Amino acid sequence: MQSDIFLDNAATTRTDAAVVKAMFPWLEQNFGSPATLYWLGTQAKEAVEEARQQLAELIGAEAKDIFFTSGATEANNWAIKGVAEALADKGKNIITNGAEHHSILKPLSYLEKKGWEVTYLPVDSGGLVDPDAVAAAIRPDTVLITTVHANHEIGTIQPIAEIGRIARERKVAFHVNAAQTVGHIPVDVDLLGADLLSVSGHKFYGPKGVGALYVRRGTRIMPLFHGGSQEKKRRAGTHNVPGIVGMGEAARIAKREMNDEAAKLTNLRDHVFDWAKENIDDIRINGHRSQRLPNNVNFSLEGIEGESIMLSLSYPTVPEARRVYISTGSACVSGSLEPSHILLALGMPAELAHGSVRITMAKGDTQADLDYALKAIAAVAERLREMSPVYKKTRKQEMHGA
Ligand SMILES: *Cc1c(COP(=O)(O)O)cnc(C)c1O
Repeated sequence: MQSDIFLDNAATTRTDAAVVKAMFPWLEQNFGSPATLYWLGTQAKEAVEEARQQLAELIGAEAKDIFFTSGATEANNWAIKGVAEALADKGKNIITNGAEHHSILKPLSYLEKKGWEVTYLPVDSGGLVDPDAVAAAIRPDTVLITTVHANHEIGTIQPIAEIGRIARERKVAFHVNAAQTVGHIPVDVDLLGADLLSVSGHKFYGPKGVGALYVRRGTRIMPLFHGGSQEKKRRAGTHNVPGIVGMGEAARIAKREMNDEAAKLTNLRDHVFDWAKENIDDIRINGHRSQRLPNNVNFSLEGIEGESIMLSLSYPTVPEARRVYISTGSACVSGSLEPSHILLALGMPAELAHGSVRITMAKGDTQADLDYALKAIAAVAERLREMSPVYKKTRKQEMHGA
């Protein structure tokens, strides 16, 4: 039987077999808590510290500046609320942009209700933030700048090092959400100028429910969780030892494989774009052409709902067809289709955002798999367009020169 083709790796990745193997002992015989001082506990503590070192080496940090969390959502919430609270007497302005992940935008809108003022910078049609606009937006009461490293929908890689330099010069704390980049492209906290940086284990072939926040020494931040004295009293709660060990192993593997993976996926990505442009009518590439994650493809198909394509591909009507998993920037929220706020932030009309298709690849993907998926997308698109009154109408108008 042919296997499924999973092309939604921006949402989550398959846990590497070596990672699963590294986790097992910490679920079975070595189940101790690192907070306890007997032998079983000290074993767990050593494993956690080794994982901290492995992650530190991947992002050019010192191990003591890494704090384990339940994922990037927690790390983002902690960075934003923790710095805002620690610096509340200095000022209440935070700078971000309109194309951020919800785990950035929602904590910010929470703070807005509590008296903070958030500056949302625009992005250009490729999704880029302008560093000059960041410099111009800094006010005496600005306490934090938060920018995603690479966008999860369109893969745009932001000029982080330039923004980091500005933040450093103006003495404003700088947070980078690196959930999409750690383990895929080089991330170095010093080169990026990050004071805080969020990591998610399951985005680079590690397990779900584990992540980290890098906090540069001297950065003022309040804890998000209060309780036990874990993580130097900055993040209470018994450690997720199997998850942390797994993420450490994923970091070790990524350090070794990342560059080859990126080169291979960049070629595959460009092949996918070329094939789609040549073989599918009325297609529009979304995001930046070159400042882009190696594994990210995003395009819009006129006259089609992305959600219909997504569902047709994952529930094929032909029994022998392989299931193909993709994503779309058009999500059904309580019965109506909501276009992605990120695609809208690029200035894209809602109809095109509804027709967006995101393909995010993983290491090990082959051109044969991608070609299968592309042909399936093209076939579904053609079928949906034949049924679509909207698409036929626009085609007719074009033919009549309207
Ligand atoms: C996946 C993702 C998150 C959330 O990470 P979790 O570890 O699943 O909480 C946040 N930001 C971006 C850009 C992501 O891709």
